[in-house]
Amino acid sequence: MTKRREFLKYAGASSLALAASGFSSLAWADSKTRTRSTTGDATVPTNTGIVGNVVVIGGGMAGATVAKYLRLWGGTGIKVTLVERDPFYTSSIMSNLVLSGQRNVSSLQFSYGFLASRYGVTVKQGEVVKIDPVGRKVSLADGTVLPYDRLIVAPGVDFDVVPGLETADAQKRVPHAWKAGSQTTDLRNMITAMPNGGVFAMTIPAAPYRCPPGPYERACVVADWLKKNRPGSKVLVLDANPGIQAEVNTFTTAFTSTHKGVIEYHSGVTIASVNAATGDIFTNIGNTRANVLNVIPPHRAGKILTSNGLADVGGKWTSVDVRSYEATVAPHLHVIGDAAATGQPKAGHIANQEAKVCADAVIRLLSGRTPDPAPVTNSACYSPITADTASWLTAVYGVDTMNSMKVIPGASGEGHATQDNFQDMSKWFSTLMSDSFA
Ligand SMILES: Cc1cc2nc3c(=O)[nH]c(=O)nc-3n(C[C@H](O)[C@H](O)[C@H](O)COP(=O)(O)OP(=O)(O)OC[C@H]3O[C@@H](n4cnc5c(N)ncnc54)[C@H](O)[C@@H]3O)c2cc1C
Repeated sequence: MTKRREFLKYAGASSLALAASGFSSLAWADSKTRTRSTTGDATVPTNTGIVGNVVVIGGGMAGATVAKYLRLWGGTGIKVTLVERDPFYTSSIMSNLVLSGQRNVSSLQFSYGFLASRYGVTVKQGEVVKIDPVGRKVSLADGTVLPYDRLIVAPGVDFDVVPGLETADAQKRVPHAWKAGSQTTDLRNMITAMPNGGVFAMTIPAAPYRCPPGPYERACVVADWLKKNRPGSKVLVLDANPGIQAEVNTFTTAFTSTHKGVIEYHSGVTIASVNAATGDIFTNIGNTRANVLNVIPPHRAGKILTSNGLADVGGKWTSVDVRSYEATVAPHLHVIGDAAATGQPKAGHIANQEAKVCADAVIRLLSGRTPDPAPVTNSACYSPITADTASWLTAVYGVDTMNSMKVIPGASGEGHATQDNFQDMSKWFSTLMSDSFA
């Protein structure tokens, strides 16, 4: 605990604005009826004299946060339009607890109501299908065209197609559940339908993927549930990477001690193909058949970037100037969250931090100033290891080169699985979500 408190001092202005005040897993319909006077904690944007027209694509961890903070810090002269395809946000953070039956998907849903009512963000439900960075406008599937002074693209990730999983039917039988939603519930139902002595086989794609500890956390929570409810079952982890990608000590202990005999871990595994009908998976280390297959495919930036020629890093990710998140390939266009290549992990907490750095930079640019040359971000992450213990991981990042952030030595660490950490995890989650959506 002492160590973790020390880390907070490095977070400085970039740490979460502690606005939780009772907010947790918001009932999104309810939020539309709340007023500022009943919540009492809204800071109404004022007119700062700065003017601009900003469009944000994607209302996830990055997009919702940047929309809020552009108005909060920039004031009423900055018109912010947030375009999001879904009517509410479903958090992937904590979604592994749906697999153990400790949460349901509706507890992970968050409204855009506060962004509109408290901060004056114009929230438009729709799908952006085209970006014109020269004409500075975006087109929506419904034909709407939105011009912008600055565009912020925060579409999260999309997935490569794994051989054998090309059809919707195959994807339904072998859900990745790596974007929380109906697939998460489907996967939970498949786990509860497993027999005693069954096999749950999951794959981990080559990095970078979203939430470096996430797949190992999933292996642990599924193993813990199976151990208690489906004795004799096994969790087979097939990792494309040369080794565990985050919290190495914690997960090594979890795999070899806490869940010994249940989790079987293999690194350096490449998937040749999958047979969704039979549950067979074909790999470089052999073939196996599972009762439940959970194949997490390789990632790339959201399609709106890759299909508009804006993913300059291997055709998969967008490089940015980490002082402003302005894309290398297109001026006046910023990319934040999982879609950006930055040297930071693809994580919701980091997406929230990138959003604040970006909001600050855009406000400065709109008023003729230059971005902060040395922004600092921080990341915190908890991983459930059993039904009532969790570990944590934290890191602070500073500018390395124009395109990359790096860990500040001495300001990072991890904590082992304890019950205290499990309780802190819920507080951290509700604070983070409040900071982004309320
Ligand atoms: C199982 C799991 C556990 C995780 N646990 C943690 C954790 O403990 N801590 C942590 O920090 N992170 C965690 N993460 C990672 C975290 O969820 C992501 O890093 C984070 O959501 C990234 O934020 P984002 O805004 O970039 O993308 P997202 O949150 O995915 O948001 C993208 C949004 O853009 C919208 N969108 C995309 N394209 C368009 C378009 N063309 N038009 C309109 N809307 C569009 C989407 O609908 C979506 O709402 C976890 C992830 C998983 C899968």
